[in-house]
Amino acid sequence: MRRAGRGATGGAAGAVARGAEAAARATRAADGMRWAAVALLLAAALLLAGMPAWAAEGDEAGPGDNAVNPQQMPDSSFIYDTSIADLYSADSYLNNQTVQVVGEVIGDRINAEFNAPNCWIALQAVDGSGADIPVFTTKVATKAIDRYGAYGVRGTTVQVRGTFHLTCPEHEGLTDLHADHLSVVKKGEDLPDELDPTRFIPGAVMVGLGLVLILVFYRLWESQR
Ligand SMILES: [Zn+2]
Repeated sequence: MRRAGRGATGGAAGAVARGAEAAARATRAADGMRWAAVALLLAAALLLAGMPAWAAEGDEAGPGDNAVNPQQMPDSSFIYDTSIADLYSADSYLNNQTVQVVGEVIGDRINAEFNAPNCWIALQAVDGSGADIPVFTTKVATKAIDRYGAYGVRGTTVQVRGTFHLTCPEHEGLTDLHADHLSVVKKGEDLPDELDPTRFIPGAVMVGLGLVLILVFYRLWESQR
């Protein structure tokens, strides 16, 4: 009640003081409002500044240079450089994997059933393990093969890259290798039989032993008469 008292007693001076006080209060209020407005504007500016940034990020996730394609197939480009012996032992770890092996082409090329451009070749390990694997390939690819291994013939040594199937769904559960790529490592060659005199020794010994036995039995037969 101090202000009211002063106003009542002070008259015009009090009115002026009250007016100044009201003006100051209004100024303070206006100041507060202004700061609130500035804060709001700042917030709005920040929001507006942020939105294009998010939009830009969204654009980047679209079809750009480094875009993620959700429909991309699992990457199977990893190649196991393995051996025919490993495939022969039916390593389940290699099932449906891209493998690469080196081996000698043996036997004959067999035409694939109901699949004219394709054929089968047999690939035998060159490490002496004697393991082999049927390879499903194209007739065009087999043109690079100059010799098929047989008696007296060393088949072409080839490197085959393809998909290994432990139980092939296309070929009645056969364990096979579907070749994607076939390349020649070493040409085949004819292995002419060489005359080896030492191979006649066992035969000659047996013939000699037979002659000796005939002689012995003849003598025995003679002596018993
Ligand atoms: Zn197959």
